Amino acid sequence: MRYVKIYNEKMQEFLERLKNYGKLYAPVKISDKFYDRKEIDDVKKISFDCLRTIMPAKKFFIPPYEELFEIDIENADYKEKIEETEPFVLFGLHACEIVALRILDGVYLDEFPDIYYANRRKAGIIIGLSCLPDEYCFCNLTRTDFVDIGFELFLHELPDGYLIRVGSPKGHKIVDENPDLFSEVKKEDIDAFKMFEEKRQKLFKYYGSFDNIRYILELTMKDKIWDEEAEKCLGCGNCTMTCPTCRCYDVQDIPDIDGKHAKRIRFWDSCQFRSHGLVAGGHNFRPTKKDRFLNRYICKNAYFYPLGTSYCVGCGNCTYFCPANINFLENLIEIRRGINA
Ligand code: SF4
Ligand code: SF4
Repeated sequence: MRYVKIYNEKMQEFLERLKNYGKLYAPVKISDKFYDRKEIDDVKKISFDCLRTIMPAKKFFIPPYEELFEIDIENADYKEKIEETEPFVLFGLHACEIVALRILDGVYLDEFPDIYYANRRKAGIIIGLSCLPDEYCFCNLTRTDFVDIGFELFLHELPDGYLIRVGSPKGHKIVDENPDLFSEVKKEDIDAFKMFEEKRQKLFKYYGSFDNIRYILELTMKDKIWDEEAEKCLGCGNCTMTCPTCRCYDVQDIPDIDGKHAKRIRFWDSCQFRSHGLVAGGHNFRPTKKDRFLNRYICKNAYFYPLGTSYCVGCGNCTYFCPANINFLENLIEIRRGINA
């Protein structure tokens, strides 16, 4: 892998120049508690200390709402609405969110690629950024706290700048085209990088392995904890909307008022909604709140075999944004009582 360094005094210029590669999106503070990834005009507004955004990076690749087809009802014809996506730069993705995008790739770019998603993925330039965990993070347990692929550049904080790992041909291009911004990595930078990594590991609240959690979940589905926790759940779906790997969507055909045309739309759905498991004839595969609540735990902790990780990347979003204060990790720890607490 290629490594370069950028000094703090060149960061502002670096961010400005990223705009040459596409619209720049980065985290900005939108309230006391929340951040969102917005299009950046003034690079000084970028928040480097943002751990999680209110909408995960998936929104750039699977928008919450999109039109797929225009339908001509009279002539029984349709046209796919596939538009060329302009290049765009996503700055400040942490390791867990980059792994999350790779999980989405596995789902959307399989044997039958989703062309809408594929176009956006091709257009997206990913610039990763190191982070220090808060009490909600557990990416160390899901083994997604470090990422080796899926970014163009990954910036690791140093006392006087950033050590940059170059992860793709597009990343090499950015470095090659802006040689005045980058310097060689020195021994003291490597030492600082190692110290940062060590400090980061020490800040995690829990240690251990979650590899067998899927089976423990299956074996404890009758535990009373699920009745108690599901009782608190409001069924609002915040946990799935803010989850970087949740990808359920619904598709509807909406006719125009003239009855001659229609459009097919796709929009985010949530397994926490009662309608999610509802099928023709009125049967519901998950009729109770507890069924839906447990489904999320089982689904997120299932293995994603191509990457050898679970579908949960340990970002803590579902807990942070839950209005009922339901703690996803604490519930998992509770059913694995004694593992490391
Ligand atoms: S965010 Fe919390 S309250 Fe809302 S559906 Fe998820 S677990 Fe239930
Ligand atoms: S289940 Fe929760 S902690 Fe895991 S990836 Fe989704 S939002 Fe993050």
